[in-house]
Amino acid sequence: MTMTTLSAVFRCFSGCPGEHSLDQAIYRCPTCGGLLAVQHDLAALSALHDGAGWREVFDSRYRARDIVDGSGVWGKREWVAPGVPTGDVVTTGEGGSPLFPARRLGAEVDIPELYVKQCGASHTGSFKDLGMTVLASVVSSAIKHGRMTPRTLACASTGDTSAALAAYGALAGMPVAVLLPRGLVSTAQLVQPIAHGARVISLDTDFDGCMKVVQELAARDLVYLANSMNPLRIEGQKTVAFEVAQQLGWDPPEWIVLPSGNLGNAAALHAGFAMLKELGLTSRMPRLCVAQAENANPMYRAFHAKETTVASVTAKKTVASAIQIGAPVSAPRAMRALEAMNGVVEQASEDELSDACARADRAGLYACPHTGVALAAAFKLRAQGLIKKTDRVVVVSTANALKFTEFKVRYHEGTLPDVDSRRANKPVELAADVDVVAKHLAATS
Ligand SMILES: *Cc1c(COP(=O)(O)O)cnc(C)c1O
Ligand SMILES: [Zn+2]
Repeated sequence: MTMTTLSAVFRCFSGCPGEHSLDQAIYRCPTCGGLLAVQHDLAALSALHDGAGWREVFDSRYRARDIVDGSGVWGKREWVAPGVPTGDVVTTGEGGSPLFPARRLGAEVDIPELYVKQCGASHTGSFKDLGMTVLASVVSSAIKHGRMTPRTLACASTGDTSAALAAYGALAGMPVAVLLPRGLVSTAQLVQPIAHGARVISLDTDFDGCMKVVQELAARDLVYLANSMNPLRIEGQKTVAFEVAQQLGWDPPEWIVLPSGNLGNAAALHAGFAMLKELGLTSRMPRLCVAQAENANPMYRAFHAKETTVASVTAKKTVASAIQIGAPVSAPRAMRALEAMNGVVEQASEDELSDACARADRAGLYACPHTGVALAAAFKLRAQGLIKKTDRVVVVSTANALKFTEFKVRYHEGTLPDVDSRRANKPVELAADVDVVAKHLAATS
């Protein structure tokens, strides 16, 4: 047994000196007030195994029978949160989701090697589980060993964050409070934190308004902040990059396309692909496409105006409700990700994202509106020639579309604003008579 000690600490994202324990309830750099990042001891990690050695370790645990090893996040625990003993891990066996080769859809849009990373195939139905398992494990372990005083875990949410926080909080036996924008989350998303016993607080504002309130509660030390401003979330979410590389035989795709709102996940993909390259498991990073809804597109605007900072906008209503965000907290992190990954930002209108979903569904997928934004962006990049025909393109599907039944129903009824439901499929009502049904089948085949 090697005795190399692995460690990870919080550091200022902008490089101010000083480091802070992951057990500290700290969300901003005490020097500059900016964002924090988790810094791993890369020298210790490479002393433990070389690239090939780590690939072997990760492959041996992939979807293993043991729930901790078999978790897509905790199977890579040394790279995620090495300080958490395996006995303290709060897990639902998240991760290990399919990388689905979307052959029929890809053929239609001239991207033969189109893949969809199905992050919605998870306990609470979105990729948020990947970050929340890390946050819940670090915090509950710290509390258990007397290194943190117990407090309520809290978040602002467009729906999926609160579902994941409530589930992992319930698993760990920790109190949870969630702040939701009134009328802007789906029924399925609203009922999840209710069912898990969280305090569900609906505020008469949008996501950005909820975010302001929860940040102030955290600053007053009344709650522990569970939004992705907290870099513990990003540590778990970066395993999407690890898995995509692993599922492609440790040969990263040419492009990865991600629907983005608060932009934490864009930072997570960058952190993951950068770490793989640095520790010698892969030799390059994919190009990144950050995909936004046209109705909530602050990053798109900043990128195309060649700005280095992102100005807030007032997000307009979009069916891609999880990314209806005008003041993205992780914008500086995403800027760095775009730079490092030779990235671009694309957008999709309500009509484009809805049509992309309908096309995907017809080809056997079942795409949530956010996945529709990313699919539409990929189709546009292909049409522009930026994505080449031979490129392997991974679209990250961030949630399970079963959470967005209202969207599907309204699409097929033709009642979504600004959407032409060209692929609507209307059910028919017929008499319970074999001849009537046979006649209908013959007439419509
Ligand atoms: C949270 C979420 C996003 C956006 O992720 P960010 O890290 O906020 O950019 C996209 N899609 C779904 C379904 C989400 O729940
Ligand atoms: Zn700083």
